[in-house]
Amino acid sequence: MSNSYYITTAIPYVNARPHVGHVLEWFQADALARYHRLLGKDVAFTSGTDENSLKNVQAAEKAGVETQAWLDEYAKIFKDAFAFFGIGLTHFRRGSDQQQHWPGVQKLWLRCLENDDIYKKTYTGLYCVGCESFYNPEDLTKEGFCPEHLKAPESVTEENYFFRLSKYQAEILKLIESDTHQIVSQQYKNEMLRFIERGLDDFSISRSSERARGIGVPVPGDNTQVMYVWFDALAIYITALGWGTDETDFNKYWPSAVQVIGKGINRFHSIYWIGMLLSAKLPLPKTTFVHGYLTADGQKMSKSLGNVIDPFQLVEDHGLEPVRYYLLRHVPTHADGDFSQEKFLETYTADLANGIGNLCSRIAKLCEKNAMPGGKIPNQFSAEFDHAFSNFEISAAAEWVSDQIRKLDGFLSEQTPWAKPLVEQKEILTVAVEKILNIGYHLQPLMPNTASHILKHFANQEISAIAPLFPRK
Ligand SMILES: [Zn+2]
Repeated sequence: MSNSYYITTAIPYVNARPHVGHVLEWFQADALARYHRLLGKDVAFTSGTDENSLKNVQAAEKAGVETQAWLDEYAKIFKDAFAFFGIGLTHFRRGSDQQQHWPGVQKLWLRCLENDDIYKKTYTGLYCVGCESFYNPEDLTKEGFCPEHLKAPESVTEENYFFRLSKYQAEILKLIESDTHQIVSQQYKNEMLRFIERGLDDFSISRSSERARGIGVPVPGDNTQVMYVWFDALAIYITALGWGTDETDFNKYWPSAVQVIGKGINRFHSIYWIGMLLSAKLPLPKTTFVHGYLTADGQKMSKSLGNVIDPFQLVEDHGLEPVRYYLLRHVPTHADGDFSQEKFLETYTADLANGIGNLCSRIAKLCEKNAMPGGKIPNQFSAEFDHAFSNFEISAAAEWVSDQIRKLDGFLSEQTPWAKPLVEQKEILTVAVEKILNIGYHLQPLMPNTASHILKHFANQEISAIAPLFPRK
């Protein structure tokens, strides 16, 4: 069995700055990456920027700057954001990278073409620019709007290349039904099965260069057309690993892929992308990991409501790990979740300041008084924690750690080491140190900085008092 593990986030458009939904997804993917690294796996972790999109051109125009200048600026904003949020990417690929991305996506096209899965036809359809996607009338809301953007799609007619997705309908259905391609969680798997059962249509995979405003990867052998942004962007998952240029990393990592995405783009990943890979005779990713959407105070976030949460500001105000903790622990991993300032502060106080923070202070202070030596750092996760993580239930894994924190708090209150004779006091504290180190060990994928601080502090030669990890607000 291969020791490699590959994880990806969705490849974001660069028409605006990263929002809190991106950050939720990045934390989830990063937690999985760290967990598997701790299991001793060789982990590759990819993101990138989806740049060949009409949406980006429109955003640049609105700002009054050249498209390429806009793309360069925003690719940098996203790259810096990954660092700012502590996301340990090993690979990052821009869609405008003509040396490392374009040869791969063109190779993918040619493979599908060789397999007779690409053909040209004239097409009229309902197109949502926001989604960069044609819609079937039955997929629109009852008002006839795009379900993602709640705007009427435009009717567009043009001659495009199409991908023969219909050919793969039975095969994709079987792959998903049998979990050969796993979709997490069940609800999203069922949605895809129902979608396939209604019948898969071939889909357009190119645009006229004119309508794409000159931006995009040229179709091999036809300069009047550029590739449809989804065909191009999905390929970033493999060109980031060198597919089409130097394929060492591709061969090593790709077959173990777990792709973390939001529910709105499941169809592109679990159906279109799988069809493209089948056609190109490439290995399939193992898993599509789907998360829900975030609301703010129970409402959809929108500029007009003025309730958009700025993740950068949140981290400036409260620190990185409390934000990471909230999103991983208090947003259900696969369902929709909510963010409110009030709930955030409430859980900050309960779980962090009065929870793990206070527990560390209590134990460290008693240890200092008794000149206790540090303990040994464990090297294995508990079965329950492993079970949660291997089922992609990050929030349940975090809940298990919260349980251990509560139990250790209870243990100290019951045992009252401070009221016991010295020998007994030391025995109780030895157990407490062992338990707090175990908690620190399990916090590593969830709150890496806090975890590392706890592990260092309580494995020290002699344990001293500790500064509050999470000051009360
Ligand atoms: Zn849309």
